[in-house]
Amino acid sequence: MINYSLYIFIRLNNYIYLLYFSLKRVVSDLNQKANTVKIMLKEKELEEIKKECECCQKCELGKTRNKIVFSDGNPNAKILLIGEAPGADEDASGVPFVGRAGKFLTKIMEECGFNRKEDFYICNTVKCRPPENRVPTDDEKKCCEDYLLRQIKSVNPKMVVLCGATSAKTFLGNKIKISQIRGKMYKILDNIDAMVLPMQQMRGGMADMFLSEE
Ligand code: SF4
Repeated sequence: MINYSLYIFIRLNNYIYLLYFSLKRVVSDLNQKANTVKIMLKEKELEEIKKECECCQKCELGKTRNKIVFSDGNPNAKILLIGEAPGADEDASGVPFVGRAGKFLTKIMEECGFNRKEDFYICNTVKCRPPENRVPTDDEKKCCEDYLLRQIKSVNPKMVVLCGATSAKTFLGNKIKISQIRGKMYKILDNIDAMVLPMQQMRGGMADMFLSEE
């Protein structure tokens, strides 16, 4: 009798283990599928915003651009970097941060052990190049703001790096001084659970100095 009870107990235990591991595998498969769908939806959403930008003429910058400069990097990255505005190299290629300052930025990322294409999603406050590389006006930034906010919401990063005074002012107000707030963390985007970190813009001169040492 005792032997039979023991037998039943061991069989039951086996069934419970089997059930547990099968359920675990099903839950993990479902999670994986849900993640894949989430990533596909995100990429589709970003593609749609990009298409809107491509035919956008909401501000004067639309008249003089060659290409819209929408983004570079990984839409699933935890860090989103927002620069000022596209320059000549970016306007010609349609990719943000590819000029001297961009190369410098990529070098810094690599020195810190990051991969630009994998670990960052990069964009600008405005998607079209301001003539003569001037700073975009408040009106131009306002016109482009909806695209940027939708981009941030879609990427849903853990950290937003505001690169330079223009992008910092877009989120923290025109009165801020980048030299006083750089390196400090802010939580300012109500509907996005991300910390915001302002940093100094990388200028071409600074980039030249470092890159020429290679
Ligand atoms: S800068 Fe933005 S708002 Fe202005 S034309 Fe380009 S995409 Fe449109």
